[in-house]
Amino acid sequence: MSASDCIFCQIAAGTAACEEIYQDDATLAFMDINPANDGHCLVIPKAHFENVFDMPPSVFGTVASTAAKVAHAVNEVLRPGGINLTQANGKTAGQSVLHMHIHVLPRRAGDNLLMNWSRDDSSDRRFDPGHIAEIAERLRSRLRG
Ligand code: 5GP
Ligand code: ZN
Repeated sequence: MSASDCIFCQIAAGTAACEEIYQDDATLAFMDINPANDGHCLVIPKAHFENVFDMPPSVFGTVASTAAKVAHAVNEVLRPGGINLTQANGKTAGQSVLHMHIHVLPRRAGDNLLMNWSRDDSSDRRFDPGHIAEIAERLRSRLRG
């Protein structure tokens, strides 16, 4: 995807409008046009990276650092019950805009926004400690490499 096709590149370039709240050399934060709750905003790298798989981890860290700064401001100004920092990679994970972004999502008691995987179905294989350990070993092996 070229910058001219990407709405977040257009926002970063100033050729599309946004309700900007913060920027520095590498990142930009602005209000989500379709907020899930009051104060829902997005943090993006100014450069186009589709998602975490498309960018150096250090650049992800730069965006995450701005997201933390913005989360502090949202928390102090709006006093929500809590804040989710969420970030989707790929359409299966719910990514709809293919320019990496972190959602700063204030939560209200009873807002019914769901992060609703079950935590109590002990019969499911994914809770099996041996199964977890086997996956952990595969990941450790990859992360050592
Ligand atoms: P995703 O589904 O990719 O995790 O999140 C994309 C987010 O971008 C959505 O919450 C959506 O409301 C927001 N969004 C999409 N287009 C625009 C836009 O043109 N301007 C702004 N400010 N937000 C947008
Ligand atoms: Zn882009």
